[in-house]
Amino acid sequence: MTQNTLASNLNIKLPSAEQQLPWPDAESANIKVFVKRDDAINPIISGNKWRKIKFQLINAEQNNIRHIISFGGGFSNHLHALGYCCFQLGLKFTAIVRGDYSNNLSPMLKDLSRWNADIRYVNKLVYKTRDTELRQTLAAEYPDALIVPEGGSSHYALKGVGEIIQELKQSYDYIVAPVASGGTLAGLIHGLSNTCKTQVLGIGVLKGQDYLERLVTDLLPQANTSCHWQINHDYHFGGYAKKSPELEQFCQEFKQTHNLKIEPVYSGKLFFALQDLIKNQYFPPASKILALHTGGLQGAR
Ligand SMILES: *Cc1c(COP(=O)(O)O)cnc(C)c1O
Repeated sequence: MTQNTLASNLNIKLPSAEQQLPWPDAESANIKVFVKRDDAINPIISGNKWRKIKFQLINAEQNNIRHIISFGGGFSNHLHALGYCCFQLGLKFTAIVRGDYSNNLSPMLKDLSRWNADIRYVNKLVYKTRDTELRQTLAAEYPDALIVPEGGSSHYALKGVGEIIQELKQSYDYIVAPVASGGTLAGLIHGLSNTCKTQVLGIGVLKGQDYLERLVTDLLPQANTSCHWQINHDYHFGGYAKKSPELEQFCQEFKQTHNLKIEPVYSGKLFFALQDLIKNQYFPPASKILALHTGGLQGAR
């Protein structure tokens, strides 16, 4: 299956739109903010998750692999996107879920079971070994399956996320994106490794100073020559999926002001950070900024 057949079988609409957002706080400093609308590439397969799994699916197809296994929490956008792709493509999908939701399925897990996924609940301690013992156990049990890491963040993600850079219609001084498992940021950095003009700024959505940097560095090829990237850790709001009334209110107001839906786990923290950084004059006057809207609205149900 070619890339194009795969995308059209799954009804993926690319390239995603790249649109300017009116941003009153920024205009006095002549700062322009654009949004790359990866939230809108498909109603079910959320933005950056498609970018990260695309080449995994092509790899599965090319190697005649009919079973995919992956990992995530009970609200995981990654399991949701991959589970849907597998269902549409007629592949078996095993979802390894952190924690036992069997008596209390999240909307995401309900979707997965409708899509015939084989759902396995494991406790936190077992889940922690997802890249070591648990992975080995699964590989022994299912030697013919493809095991995709949590969040879809593997070296395949670099190529898929890098396509975002190839789609851009203009160059930017900054590209800003949320960071959780690091694959998206690593892909952006990798995609920009031929230019030092653009700085990549990640917004950590969980408490992870140094840890998040390490995840990103570990995914990048050792010879990576990219110049400028960093992760800001001031906007995690206490941790992964933690939120404050202020953040929730921001998300609601943002939707009204910009006619753009955001949610508090990823994109809400991203745009909140952007607003605050602009207000605090983090970006030099006349900067052109691209915010990557990574989607994720299913998780907010
Ligand atoms: C998974 C996810 C992220 C985080 O991306 P990573 O590559 O894991 O850092 C950001 N936004 C949304 C909507 C996501 O679902």
